[in-house]
Amino acid sequence: MSVLFVDVEAMSRWISDRGAERILVELAKAIESDFVRWQAFDKTPRLAAHSPDGVIELMPTSDGNQYGFKYVNGHPKNPERGYQTVTAFGVLADVHSGYPTMLAEMTILTALRTAATSAMAARHLARRGSRVMSLIGCGAQAEFQALAFKAVLGIDSFRFWDTDPDAMDKFERNSQRLGLKATRVADPLDVTDGADVITTCTADKTNAIVLRDDSVAHGVHINAIGGDCPGKTELDPHTLQRASVFVEYTPQTRVEGEIQNQPEDFPVTELWSVVQGVHPGRRDDREITVFDSVGFAIEDFSALRYLASQVAGSSYATTIDLVAEPSDPKDLFGLTVLRGRSLVTLGARGV
Ligand code: NAD
Repeated sequence: MSVLFVDVEAMSRWISDRGAERILVELAKAIESDFVRWQAFDKTPRLAAHSPDGVIELMPTSDGNQYGFKYVNGHPKNPERGYQTVTAFGVLADVHSGYPTMLAEMTILTALRTAATSAMAARHLARRGSRVMSLIGCGAQAEFQALAFKAVLGIDSFRFWDTDPDAMDKFERNSQRLGLKATRVADPLDVTDGADVITTCTADKTNAIVLRDDSVAHGVHINAIGGDCPGKTELDPHTLQRASVFVEYTPQTRVEGEIQNQPEDFPVTELWSVVQGVHPGRRDDREITVFDSVGFAIEDFSALRYLASQVAGSSYATTIDLVAEPSDPKDLFGLTVLRGRSLVTLGARGV
C-alpha cells in the first residue's frame, strides 16, 4: 500500500493555489467539528523531551478510526543561526490495519492550524464586532495569525510590535503584499491601543511579560500562543487573575501554558465545552477572555485529515513506498532478496 506524501514544495503550492484565507476558514471549521466530537478522541498530554535549547514533542491522538501524531520542536534561539523556532511533520494512520496512510510536512501546516484554532476560539470568545487586533511578536506565525483573524473573525486592522526591527520590517512587507491594514508602532506600550483582540506570539524560553497588565482593557480577548512550554510564558499573572481563561486540554496546559504559574486549582474552561454550548463562553462585553493556547494533538489530527481530503489524488501529493508489504505477509525476509541476491549478503560484503 502506498502512503500519501506531502512535502514542503507541495504544501506551499497547494496553499498558494487554494488561497491561505480559504484554507484557514475551512481548517477552522474542520477543527471546530472535531471539538464538537471531543469525547470521541483518545487524549493525552504530549510527550516532551526538554533540553537547554528547547523541546521536542510527540503529539498523538485517535478517533478510533484514524490515528495521527505530530513531531514538533520549539527552539527559540534557532532563528539566530538561521533555523526555524518551530518545525514539524506528521503522520495519519488507519486504526484498523495500523498502516500509515499519509506523511506530511507540518511546519507550515502547524502555522495554519494554530492560526485557525486561535481564530476559531476567538469567534467564540471575543466581543462581537471585534475589528482591531494587536500582534506582539512578528515571527513565523504572525502572518498566519493575522490572515486567520481577518478571514474567520472579520478583523480589518492590525497593530504590531516585535523587539526585532527586522521582524517588524518583514511583517510590514508581507502585510502590504496581503493588503492588510497594519500599523507599526514605535513604542510597545502603544501596540494595544484600541485593541479588541491581542495576540501574543513571541518566543523566549523564560517567564516573560510581553503584555503588561495595565495595557489590558476591559472586554479584550487575549490569544496567547507563545507560552507553550514549562518556564516559557508571556502574560502578567495579574491579567490571568482578572480574566476568564480557556484552554485546550487542561492536563497539558497546566504544565505548559500561562496557567503553569498559577495554583493547581486555578479555574479554567476547556474550549470544547464552549464549542459544544455546555459553557456560555464570554458573558459580557467587559469580561477579559484569554485563550491560553499551547497546541493540542486533536488540532493536528484535524489538519492532517483536512489536508488528506484536499490533496489525495492530486498533484499536491505523491506516494512513497514506506510500508514493507511482501506478497506473503509472513515472508518479510523474501523482500531482502533482490535479483536472486540477498541484501543481507550484499551488506555483509560492504557493497
Ligand atoms: P519566531 O521565533 O519565528 O518568532 C518569535 C518572535 O517573537 C521573534 O520575531 C522575536 O523577535 C519576538 N519576540 C521575542 N520576545 C519578544 C518580546 N518580548 N516582545 C515582542 N517580540 C518578541 O517564533 P514563531 O514560530 O512565530 O512562534 C512564536 C511562538 O508561538 C513560539 O513561542 C512558539 O513556540 C509558539 N507556538 C505556539 C503554538 C501553539 O499552538 N500555541 C504553535 C506554534 C508556535
